[in-house]
Amino acid sequence: GSSLVVRDLVVRYGEVEAVSGISFAAEPGDFITLLGPSGCGKSTTLRCIAGLETPSGGTIAIDGRTVAGPGVEVPPERRGINMVFQSYAIWPHMSVFDNVAYGLRGRGANPRLVRERTLEALELVGLPHLENRFGTELSGGQQQRVAVARAVVTRPGVILFDEPLSNLDAGLRERMREELLELQRQVGLTALYVTHDQTEAMSMSDRVVLMNHGVIEQADPPRQLYRRP
Ligand code: ADP
Ligand code: ADP
Repeated sequence: GSSLVVRDLVVRYGEVEAVSGISFAAEPGDFITLLGPSGCGKSTTLRCIAGLETPSGGTIAIDGRTVAGPGVEVPPERRGINMVFQSYAIWPHMSVFDNVAYGLRGRGANPRLVRERTLEALELVGLPHLENRFGTELSGGQQQRVAVARAVVTRPGVILFDEPLSNLDAGLRERMREELLELQRQVGLTALYVTHDQTEAMSMSDRVVLMNHGVIEQADPPRQLYRRP
């Protein structure tokens, strides 16, 4: 995984300040959670890191390279980042294999490598037996696992999760929480995970960044959260 440094990030939408100068950092291999109520600026922060949104101020650096800042805007596909969204954003008309292989093929990887890496990614999410199925034939949990496989297959320096489990039922959510954490550790990914679910944040992260109204209220390991004098 890569390091990630967000410094003094500001995002304005007209009169609304969605993010008001936040700073935090992840070391390679960290699992960081952005936790906070709806509307506090979590997704906006994530989209800035992904390059889907242009910050009004501040800088973002990945592996020491500034990807967003004054006069700098590296396009999303050149940031070494992948993202998993809340909704099952897999392509229903493509097979599971093709969904996962897409990113590798786009980079011109040779077919043997594509096959090897794709099956490896499907193995990581526990779905190697479903490579020939189509998106429409999968359950919600399976679709989200495919989305995760698709995001890890190119071995991004940083993987961004935007409430990836919130559309799943409680039992599945809990199971996939553990699976995701195990996968992240196994691959050594740097992960930034957005959620409004406190249990999720507390059980998954090395550090929880607690946001409210566009600012960071606290950033600590789960067991130290809310314990400050
Ligand atoms: P969260 O992810 O924590 O729910 P968001 O980052 O989605 O919060 O939103 C933060 C604030 O910015 C909210 O007040 C939201 O309404 C506003 N916002 C987000 N995106 C836009 C946009 N494209 N245009 C205007 N306001 C936006
Ligand atoms: P989330 O579930 O992450 O909070 P939302 O449902 O708030 O996301 O927002 C979904 C999309 O709508 C995002 O692309 C965001 O930029 C946009 N959006 C959110 N709030 C506003 C707003 N007040 N005005 C315009 N667009 C918005």
